[in-house]
Amino acid sequence: MPSPRYWREVPARFRLEAVRCRGCGKVVYPARRVCPGCRGTDLEPLALSRSGTVVTSTVIHVAPAEFAMETPYAVAIVETPEGARLMAQVVDCELPEVKPGLKVNLEFRLIRQEGHGGILCYGHKAVPEA
Ligand SMILES: [Zn+2]
Repeated sequence: MPSPRYWREVPARFRLEAVRCRGCGKVVYPARRVCPGCRGTDLEPLALSRSGTVVTSTVIHVAPAEFAMETPYAVAIVETPEGARLMAQVVDCELPEVKPGLKVNLEFRLIRQEGHGGILCYGHKAVPEA
């Protein structure tokens, strides 16, 4: 089953909803009520751009069962122009192309199907800009 954390974060994940701290300027994704930077609670909503730059990436060779058919695949930390960082699978490219500085678009895709009940989990995947 998807964890409670997954469900709590669904709306934020769907809309790439982040918050910016009015206290220290930190951009936090997914949105939270308390700034992890300064513990401030004065946060304004911020919709992230659906694009970003790969900061770091890794290739997954051994994956949980539901992802096993996709190995090897690349997972990257992508930084949006707003300064938020999120982790996304990088798709539609060759693995050696995935490196820091790669420009990607964040596309909303099916991530996985949970078990035999077939609960569908959606999220963003990073696709290199053409
Ligand atoms: Zn702050």
